[in-house]
Amino acid sequence: MEDLGKTMQQLMSQQHLNDNYRQLMAEVYDDPLVRQFYEAHQAELADDVLTRSAAKLYEFVSEREKLAKGGATFATGYEPQLVVSNHLIDVAYVPTAETQEKQAEQRLRQRVKSIAMPKSIREATLKAFDQDSDRAEALMAALDFIDAYEASPKRRHQALYLSGSFGVGKTYLLAAVANQLAADGFSTTLVHFPSFAVEMKNAIAQNGVAEKLDALKKAKVLMIDDIGADAMSAWVRDDVLGVILEYRMQEELPTFFSSNFSMAQLENEHLRISTRGDDEPLKAQRLMQRIRFLAREVTMVGVNRRPQ
Ligand code: ADP
Ligand code: MG
Repeated sequence: MEDLGKTMQQLMSQQHLNDNYRQLMAEVYDDPLVRQFYEAHQAELADDVLTRSAAKLYEFVSEREKLAKGGATFATGYEPQLVVSNHLIDVAYVPTAETQEKQAEQRLRQRVKSIAMPKSIREATLKAFDQDSDRAEALMAALDFIDAYEASPKRRHQALYLSGSFGVGKTYLLAAVANQLAADGFSTTLVHFPSFAVEMKNAIAQNGVAEKLDALKKAKVLMIDDIGADAMSAWVRDDVLGVILEYRMQEELPTFFSSNFSMAQLENEHLRISTRGDDEPLKAQRLMQRIRFLAREVTMVGVNRRPQ
């Protein structure tokens, strides 16, 4: 403290500075953060640092004042920080606490990639998931998966096939799992399968099939929502769904499903019959083998929770 005071006095008297400047800089040198920084780093700083870095110190103090008054600063969302650079003092701009929070929130959002899913899935949380007895089994299974997966993400983990009627909360539970994984640092891709199938058909004309397919094949955790909701063409069944599941089975990548059908119904009432009306039990069986390898069936019952 004494050192700084002395240096300042010398500085001020040595130079022929006008009064305005003198007063301005006296305030700058007196700023508690400036003093603190100078004292903490004096050993690394050049002897004449207070003169040579005067402009930077002034910038630091005045930008902080603007920020405190809520005014626009040099870089929105960032605040100035003093740093040592080449034995002099420089100003670096670092994200404010608020900006850091926003950035963390953004990173969290980016961990849940959704394809044709409603925006409301962002709000789904395990905490808010009703623990009534009808849904307890599904919730427990979901929590078990999260524990096991997070403990060893590279190992094989069987995910869940949530079956149950319209509105019981299957999509909600998938989204809540995805959001929890995101909060813990893991990425998930959620896809509304019937819409994805339409997108894939449109992608043929634009040569975009391989790229769209790859995104699902290679997703760290994949959640296929509403499988069986729309009739599937043989192409979607075999060259889209089949290819995705084959890859994920080989690579042992966690894959969830949700469906209004039970597994047995999906096989016999949905996958067997192509949109052309062909009955293809063997193809349906092969697909079901992959689905069963990837996920175990958990039936969700309960009331329709959709606002009527
Ligand atoms: P499903 O996919 O089984 O048809 P949804 O997951 O879409 O059903 O759920 C139906 C509605 O009920 C949605 O609006 C969803 O947000 C809400 N919902 C479902 N489960 C819960 C829950 N446990 N807590 C709060 N809201 C829920
Ligand atoms: Mg749903």
